[in-house]
Amino acid sequence: MRRLILSDIHSNLEALKAVLDDAQGAYDEIVCCGDVVGYNANPAEVVAWTRRYARYIVRGNHDCGCAGITDISDFNLPARYATLWTRSQLPREDLDWLSALPAGPVYAEEFQLCHGSPADEDEYLIQSSQVEPLDQFLLRPVCFIGHTHWQGGWSWQRGGLVPLSRPALTETERIIDLDPDYLYLINPGSVGQPRDRDPRAGYAIWDSAERLLTFKRVRYDVRSAQSRILEAGLPELLAERLAFGR
Ligand code: ZN
Repeated sequence: MRRLILSDIHSNLEALKAVLDDAQGAYDEIVCCGDVVGYNANPAEVVAWTRRYARYIVRGNHDCGCAGITDISDFNLPARYATLWTRSQLPREDLDWLSALPAGPVYAEEFQLCHGSPADEDEYLIQSSQVEPLDQFLLRPVCFIGHTHWQGGWSWQRGGLVPLSRPALTETERIIDLDPDYLYLINPGSVGQPRDRDPRAGYAIWDSAERLLTFKRVRYDVRSAQSRILEAGLPELLAERLAFGR
């Protein structure tokens, strides 16, 4: 089975379209690690697409925030503004759909899925020291996460934890052979608001039969996504950051 792994689309329709064009024909089903909405200007279109096509999905903190089922007082001001704006843009049934998304981890036969960490859906996994003890929460050899908007991840190998590397700025992909004896925690990167200093949309393709993981980066029309943000009256900072990938 070949799966398209997406995370943190964040209402960015231009980035989503570019990813789907780039990945066309390369996958059989779609997995989404949460944060469908928030920050960018096309929540209705992105929710409609995700509702229709994502085979597996977990909720992200922005999905919960926009649905109004969690406290957003710890969001920074632009994020809070975008959350309230998104809530005002979506019809009741889309908000209900967001509210009903499952908290991670979700377990499929071959993999598990969560937004932040397999131990806590809201935890940002950044340091290897945070990740090291999490192998006890991996009930499948491969676990997909999102939340940090950093493409990459870790593998537990004999002798310790090893980071997975994403494509360099001059590359469009990085292919990793997955060893059946190791455990993997994989972040496909953010489609709609990368923060790993690469403004290109990030995603991954996982071929479970061939045991291949490919981290991908694709350019998209950042200017158009920025214009939509400004036209919607969302904070300028949300448009600016897309150009820098941070
Ligand atoms: Zn996010």
